[in-house]
Amino acid sequence: LSPVTGLTSLGQQLQSATGALVRINEVLGAEPEIADPPGAPTAPLVEHAITLDHVQFAYSIERPTLEDVTVVIPAGSRVAFVGPTGAGKSSVLQLIMRFYDPADGAVRVDGIDLRDVTVASWRAQLGVVFQDTFLFDSTIRENIEIARPGASAAEVVAAARGAELHEFIDQLPRGYDTLVGERGGRLSGGQRQRLAIARALLRNPRVLLLDEATSALDPRTERLIAATLERAGAGRTTVAVTHRLASVTEYDRIFVVDAGRVVEQGTHAQLLAAGGQYAQLWAVQAGGVALTEPPFAAAGALARLAIFAGLDAGVLAMIAGRLRPALLDVGEQVEEGDGVVLLRRGRARVLAPGIDGRLATTAELGPGDAFGLSALLGQGTASVLEATEPTATLTLDSEVIAGLAGAYPSVAAALDGTALAAAPVGGQRLTRMTMAPRLRPPLPPPVAPAPTTADVRRASGSFSRIDP
Ligand code: ATP
Repeated sequence: LSPVTGLTSLGQQLQSATGALVRINEVLGAEPEIADPPGAPTAPLVEHAITLDHVQFAYSIERPTLEDVTVVIPAGSRVAFVGPTGAGKSSVLQLIMRFYDPADGAVRVDGIDLRDVTVASWRAQLGVVFQDTFLFDSTIRENIEIARPGASAAEVVAAARGAELHEFIDQLPRGYDTLVGERGGRLSGGQRQRLAIARALLRNPRVLLLDEATSALDPRTERLIAATLERAGAGRTTVAVTHRLASVTEYDRIFVVDAGRVVEQGTHAQLLAAGGQYAQLWAVQAGGVALTEPPFAAAGALARLAIFAGLDAGVLAMIAGRLRPALLDVGEQVEEGDGVVLLRRGRARVLAPGIDGRLATTAELGPGDAFGLSALLGQGTASVLEATEPTATLTLDSEVIAGLAGAYPSVAAALDGTALAAAPVGGQRLTRMTMAPRLRPPLPPPVAPAPTTADVRRASGSFSRIDP
């Protein structure tokens, strides 16, 4: 009977596979809207500039997406398109990649209209890194190689080196044959982006296109990946789209896009000096400070951290000066282990893996609360901080804390036994209870100790009023 029942289920499988095949055939058979003109030459290797020349573009007739956009991207330079959401920044990249053609005007490479050259020859010069990278549930090697099937093992390794991922891969037991899991689930966000960079580099592109390539990362990983991209982009033309201005301040030219138009352009310094839309965006993003926001008592928040107990106000003020501001959008996460994160504004929750491996909320934090101390003390729980509102944070990086441990014995004592303790001097190790992020409702501010006789004596200047 078993072969007969097997045949029945085979029939069902064939039926559903047929449906899928029909759909796949439709997709494969679709005529691309972007087609090569007959006998079109290959695109020249970009040597002078990519230009958008009075580009007019819309996805639908109701609403123009880009209006009269003219920009020059010199070969070998780094340029960025910034601006509010929906302004049309990514659409500029779509046109450069020739996923669409402009309704009017032209996108040119060294003066030649992209419509007059073969699409494949132009795209062969491009490497792209998006915010989300689709990874196949396959090996690291295959996930990189897909950017250029047939690339040699040495070329894959070279690309991984360029993306500064090779050392990580090398120390994995199965190296390049490690399975990345469904959608790359076994890799961190930063590792996934490095894999995306490796893919882009495997094509040895003359032009690197970055669409929010670092925006989904926590601030520290963002800085590391930005540095990798800078090195990977050397000698290439880089065109980045981002809403995080801090990642492009060093770029050669920044174009501010608003409602489909380029409204400002220049270097970071020039745009700040101009005091326009860019300068306003920067003011909010750099410090996370709106003009109406009350000042944040950073030194006071630091004083409440047990590792800084015993430091005087002058030292705390100095440490406050080393805090690094950042903004988190709703849902953005910061991993534990990179330092202490103070919430300046907004709200966030702490998610920690339970025994079943699932993340569960263990604390809710508000202004003045801190995250990440447990990990510094070697008692990390692999928790993450996730913004539940737009949140401004101030981070004290672990390198800074390590420096403080070298200078202040009380800090070193608190960190005793952890890698950060530069100069362990014994002392009582702080317990996990002491270090855990505070649960709501927040603890009341420390109550001032009752005045002693000496205090009252000092304040009153008189001894006689004191009743012993
Ligand atoms: P964000 O920062 O949110 O990514 P953006 O500045 O990159 O925004 P675009 O993605 O270029 O903006 O989108 C510009 C406008 O075009 C938006 O109104 C968007 O909804 C619309 N749009 C984008 N892609 C498509 C599409 N494939 N079909 C139709 N409309 C689209």
